[in-house]
Amino acid sequence: MTSKANFISNAFVPPASGVYLDDIAPATGECIAKIPRSNAADVDHAVAAARKASASWARTTVAERADLCDAVASRIAARADELAQLESLDTGKPVKLAATLDIPRAVANFRFFAGAARHTSTAAHEMDGALNYTLRRPLGVVALITPWNLPLYLLSWKAAPALVMGNAVVAKPSELTPLTASVLAEIFKEVGAPAGVFNLVHGFGAEAGQALIEHRDVAAVSFTGGTATGARVAHAAAPLFKKLSLELGGKNATLIFADCDFDAAVEGAARAAFLNQGQICLCGSRILIDRSIYDRFVEALVVRVRAMRVGDPRSPETTLGALVSAAHRDKVEGYLTLAKSEGGTILCGGKRPSLAPPFDRGAFLEPTIIAGLSTKSRTATQEIFGPVATVHPFEGETEALEIANGVRYGLSASLWTRDLSRAHRVAAALETGTVWVNTWLLRDLRVPFGGVKDSGVGREGGVHSLEFFSESKNVCVKV
Ligand code: NAD
Repeated sequence: MTSKANFISNAFVPPASGVYLDDIAPATGECIAKIPRSNAADVDHAVAAARKASASWARTTVAERADLCDAVASRIAARADELAQLESLDTGKPVKLAATLDIPRAVANFRFFAGAARHTSTAAHEMDGALNYTLRRPLGVVALITPWNLPLYLLSWKAAPALVMGNAVVAKPSELTPLTASVLAEIFKEVGAPAGVFNLVHGFGAEAGQALIEHRDVAAVSFTGGTATGARVAHAAAPLFKKLSLELGGKNATLIFADCDFDAAVEGAARAAFLNQGQICLCGSRILIDRSIYDRFVEALVVRVRAMRVGDPRSPETTLGALVSAAHRDKVEGYLTLAKSEGGTILCGGKRPSLAPPFDRGAFLEPTIIAGLSTKSRTATQEIFGPVATVHPFEGETEALEIANGVRYGLSASLWTRDLSRAHRVAAALETGTVWVNTWLLRDLRVPFGGVKDSGVGREGGVHSLEFFSESKNVCVKV
């Protein structure tokens, strides 16, 4: 059994407490590694290392920092197979998904932000007799806190822009999925990153994470995770005037209009609901269908979802692997019980699949579609974050929008129609940070990404990330 370490000042160091946590593979229930249960002492150590490194790192050129990010991207690409296996082992997701989505995205994130920083510019404002120009300056030490659903994908999404803008980083990955973050630390060492520029502290959110966001020398917190945790992060960080980016939960609607390309919409709705076992913040877990095609659409959707294969994450035939943990599956199953008590009918799934050892001990659940629920029910309004989608009929655009916008969340939506005017009209009226038309999860890394309402505060992506991870300073020169 391997024991992982924290990564501070380019050295792998044990936790101050000497205490380790079990890292469990959710597909088999086996303990695959021990990870540090870090506390405030480890966080202090990491932040001090980052602080020491940040002054000289801030004085490097953009080109040097971008070159480092490119080197990291190349090493992630070179170790892609190993990283995909580890990501699958840690999360339960299919290896194929990790190899085609998670790891390529981590490579792309480092390459993209290297390029974006090289090509960015700042503004100048000319006045009568004076010139203003804007400088962008690093913040110092930034904290990156990431969830378990897309571990390396989201860590790289934050680390690349933070570093390329000249900040030193202390990252706290999810305690459930620590392995690829540790490989990333190795990669920083391999490519010769200056000591203290990238630091990693493992452990529980309430201990290591909380100590990090409360640390006086941390200037900014970029957090991706649940809405309730986001509120705690904001509560701790706001009175200390830290810059905050919060990417939180979702209960996203997929809107199916009668004039859609039917087969494409069935495929799109199924993929949006169940990719990564439904554990993507952007998953379309509420499928709203024009009443005139409701029966036909639901029937086709159920056929499509029943054809999904649940099981061994290593098999290329597998569509859905395990949920991230047995405890998370319990929570998701709790929603199935709730759905029944709220009057819902399970159209497919709803059970644990029967799998051969060692997967009989894994946290698997069949993809589940539930009909007959009120759009205001708890099942249809709370984030479940698992392979569970509800279907609801609507009559006309107004009702579709009322249902879609009738939740506390506002992360994303996808709408399926062949009517261009309707697409623009509905997209403009949806209360979300992202709308996809006739597609889902098609991502351009330059676009603003984030949520409204309880789905978060701020935008990341492209120039938004570069701006978040820097402070603009105006210089006014009298000419
Ligand atoms: P979580 O909120 O439980 O944990 C996220 C991270 O925060 C983990 O690293 C955790 O250890 C840490 N944490 C927990 N308590 C903390 C505290 N008090 N102080 C500091 N850090 C703390 O979320 P999760 O269960 O890992 O992830 C699932 C959630 O993430 C879902 O709600 C999902 O929608 C959301 N998510 C959002 C996005 C987005 O971009 N909006 C992307 C992915 C996931």
